[in-house]
Amino acid sequence: MLCRYPRPLGRSHSVSPMASPAPLDRHHRPLGVLRLSLTARCNLACPYCLPDGQEPAGLLSLAERLLLVETAVQLGVHTLRLTGGEPLLHGDLEALIRALAPLRQRPQGDRRGVLRQIALTTNGTLLSVERARSLRQAGLERITLSLDGADGASVARMAGLAPSAGPPAAEDDTHSARGEALLARVLAAIEHARAAGFDPAAGELKLNAVITRHGNADQLLPLAALARQRGLELRLIEYMDVGNRNGWEPAQVIAAAEMVARIGERWPLEPLGRDCHGTASRWRYRDGGGLLAAIASISAPFCGDCNRLRITADGVAYSCLFAASGTDLRPWLRPRPDRDGLLAALGSLWRQRDDRYSEERSRSAEAAMAPIAGLVSVATADSRLTAEPQATADIEAAPDANGNPGSMAAASPPAHAEMAYLGG
Ligand code: SAM
Ligand code: SF4
Repeated sequence: MLCRYPRPLGRSHSVSPMASPAPLDRHHRPLGVLRLSLTARCNLACPYCLPDGQEPAGLLSLAERLLLVETAVQLGVHTLRLTGGEPLLHGDLEALIRALAPLRQRPQGDRRGVLRQIALTTNGTLLSVERARSLRQAGLERITLSLDGADGASVARMAGLAPSAGPPAAEDDTHSARGEALLARVLAAIEHARAAGFDPAAGELKLNAVITRHGNADQLLPLAALARQRGLELRLIEYMDVGNRNGWEPAQVIAAAEMVARIGERWPLEPLGRDCHGTASRWRYRDGGGLLAAIASISAPFCGDCNRLRITADGVAYSCLFAASGTDLRPWLRPRPDRDGLLAALGSLWRQRDDRYSEERSRSAEAAMAPIAGLVSVATADSRLTAEPQATADIEAAPDANGNPGSMAAASPPAHAEMAYLGG
């Protein structure tokens, strides 16, 4: 099922007894998913992501994150995706999930909304048996593990493992061996998650893979085979133009259609479509080998029914992954929390949301660049589509107490709006 700019359903779906109804944005899209980034740091350096290794100043506390999630749930959020950077680097992860328990079930008559699902996206390197178990016990329902190759050399390259010093042949061997070790950790993480109760057949354990033409295109079939053997849904992600340092260029993108066709030649597929408000289009292997998914943010954008809000580790809200600026929410969190102000501010932010970046880019056919095989035309007018360095992202001033956009620049904008800062 595909939702295209669903019309308002009327205003009967109140979420709070005293507050305003669940807001719709300017394209009548409801708020549904919150991607909450716990850290901008990572223990890997995937070249398509390239985190800068530092936390932004003014990280949120556990209590501040709780208040943000609670407020977002009042405004319609039903799914929380915990991300980073690498979220397993964050010591408070389980504590945060446990503390969200009151939002999972409300007393009868309480209409403030329910948090139906909590999910985690991780590179899996730190997912030990104990960690998988403690996350499950805390209340985590889904894990998506990221893995971009099925052999040591590919994993090492795609995870940005630094080449070791030494003569070239030895260097290659060592690099591949370290990639093998990393691959083994992620494969072990899959089994730890499964043993802890995350059931792939119920969609509770999945695999993400970013595929780039010159990085790991040769890993499409090996990754599909690996996922099929382990009963996991593989989600192929088109390489996105997010961030300033990854040197993104259209020639590196392999469109979802091409990826799926290549896998379908080996294992025939039957299309299932894309869920309403979902990011992934899905296929079923005709031989019963499970599911395959593709996230075609570049070649087949799904802005039309996008219901996602991102909040960074330092409390900046982004209403689109491709947005160049966000709204600093800390004025409603510090020095002491202002619950009503935060509810009004987030509600206003969502009502004013106009983002359709990916769709608009796709439709700018006049300034089309050299087409990428299988990709829709993209506009040269868009600086993100050049290899030029990007302008530093800035933060919009916080809205005033009535939720209107503010006019003062936020005190300390982050150096970049990188993927690891935005949470993917
Ligand atoms: N570190 C965790 C991980 O890798 O799963 C969570 C954060 S990561 C930013 C979230 C997801 O974004 C990962 O699946 C990653 O592969 C994906 N990602 C990062 N940079 C990307 C890019 N430029 N294009 C497409 N996907 C990207
Ligand atoms: Fe780290 Fe995830 Fe980015 Fe890779 S994609 S560098 S694992 S945050």
